[in-house]
Amino acid sequence: QFPFGRRLPCDIYWHGVSFHDNNIFSGQVNKFPGMLETVRKITLSRAMRTMQDLFPLEYNFYPRSWILPEELPLFMAEVRMMKDRNPSWKPTFIVKPDGGCQGDGIYLIKDPGDIRLTGSTQSRPAVVQEYICKPLLVDKLKFDIRLYVLLKSLEPLEIYIAKDGLSRFCTEPYQEPTLKNLHQVFMHLTNYSLNIHSGNFIHSDSANTGSKRTFSSILCRLSSRGADVKKLWSDIISLVIKTIIALTPELKVYYQSDIPAGKPGPTCFQILGFDILLLKNLKPMLLEVNANPSMRIEHEQELSPGVFGNVPSPVDERVKVAVIRDTLRLIDPQKKKKKDTHLSFHTYLLIFPTQLQCLHAGTASMKDKQHKHHSLKLSLKLKFYLKLGFSEPDAAAAPPSPEPALPSLCLKQVFPKYAKHFSYLRLVDRVAALFIHFLGVKGTTKLGPTGFRTFIRNCKLSNSNFSMAAVDILYIDITRRWNSMGIDHKESGMCLQAFVEAFFCLAQKKYKSLPLHEQVASLIELCECRLAEPRGKRLLWGCG
Ligand code: ADP
Repeated sequence: QFPFGRRLPCDIYWHGVSFHDNNIFSGQVNKFPGMLETVRKITLSRAMRTMQDLFPLEYNFYPRSWILPEELPLFMAEVRMMKDRNPSWKPTFIVKPDGGCQGDGIYLIKDPGDIRLTGSTQSRPAVVQEYICKPLLVDKLKFDIRLYVLLKSLEPLEIYIAKDGLSRFCTEPYQEPTLKNLHQVFMHLTNYSLNIHSGNFIHSDSANTGSKRTFSSILCRLSSRGADVKKLWSDIISLVIKTIIALTPELKVYYQSDIPAGKPGPTCFQILGFDILLLKNLKPMLLEVNANPSMRIEHEQELSPGVFGNVPSPVDERVKVAVIRDTLRLIDPQKKKKKDTHLSFHTYLLIFPTQLQCLHAGTASMKDKQHKHHSLKLSLKLKFYLKLGFSEPDAAAAPPSPEPALPSLCLKQVFPKYAKHFSYLRLVDRVAALFIHFLGVKGTTKLGPTGFRTFIRNCKLSNSNFSMAAVDILYIDITRRWNSMGIDHKESGMCLQAFVEAFFCLAQKKYKSLPLHEQVASLIELCECRLAEPRGKRLLWGCG
């Protein structure tokens, strides 16, 4: 563990929170630049909305969402309209503060007028979302699924899904939301961090009982009742691939800014936590994506009155150890070099223990703390190696002993394996490629007015009906609106989402009668074609 970094290069860097070290020039880092920002509730909702505009049916696994405060009038108007159309519709909404986690600041409302926009904690930007009122229940309890997904590479896209996950249960029997029970968090929110504080939380060492179970145990139960579990898995795989397809355009913009092409830099991979809710008819719905899913395999328990300690949690262990072990197997640089089947850790693994440091904050004296810190580190290190089934690196002096055979991989490749079913959805990715092409000076994430004009000119999109003056007005209008939403003030210019909006606008202008996704696809093809033309010809045409 190197809390302050390390000068000697490593093969694998395991950061606690985010990609934050600009001094890494080789190896692999377990975080993508910009991932934290990309999966925040508001950014995720925007990305999903863009995909829902293009492909409404394919993206109906994400609840209808509005961004607060800017879309409050839209939210009010749309709800009023839907109620007018269908007077028997009695919706419930869930309000979630942006950047919140562990259920922090979340509340349910029946009436859009009940949104709390004032008060210090409530004034943060938030997402308001249609509440899923009829989830699948097991033992009369609501539960959600945490699935682990490895994004192994962005370009080319490589996605793996863990074959098992966790099911996290509420601790009070579920009832559909009414004004009376809206505030009962132990009934409506499945967060482990909340339910652990309910007197009803059941710690269990068995995978199919208690308040945290394996997802495979739920599947077994469903299967024994005749449910089509194969179809459920294929729907989940499709949800994961579609969600990552929605996130990649933004990630690529961050990536080229932090790790410019052609310059030495590390490659990245990341384990993501997908939170999924099943409807009564077994349709999976995406709740959110976590950039830093908890990898704890212990939980705190009161060992004797007033004395708390960490005890192993076999359910967490079973799922999470396999995910980390297989991630390391898949990215193992030794494997690439030697095509060796066993893993010995001569590879240097660098861990930034930001999360570990939180574990030993307490009232103990400094000396005590240091001692505790040291032993904690030692025990974690030992556990880490033993649990994963690797030998300790100190054994490097001795010849590597043959490793016991590792269990078969729990991570299943789903992309590019199923790429051909999903490639038609990657339109925004191609718009992002155009955006990156015109960003010009590498290291930025926003397009200046000259870059936008060059894009229009090189793709020959202006004509007598769409003058360069109109191009400038389009740029200013859209950029000003996006920048006023206060997303990122560090750089001025047009962000990717603003460019996507401008692109859709141009596509609608040019191909009026087609559905939106065909308009956008046609404009992309036109732009790609024009950019592929030999430079001389392009310039000549540009002049003429
Ligand atoms: P957090 O990051 O704070 O955990 P989530 O989006 O995961 O926020 O929401 C917390 C919990 O609220 C979820 O685990 C789930 O139980 C419940 N929840 C969230 N969104 C919905 C929804 N649209 N419908 C029903 N329940 C939801």
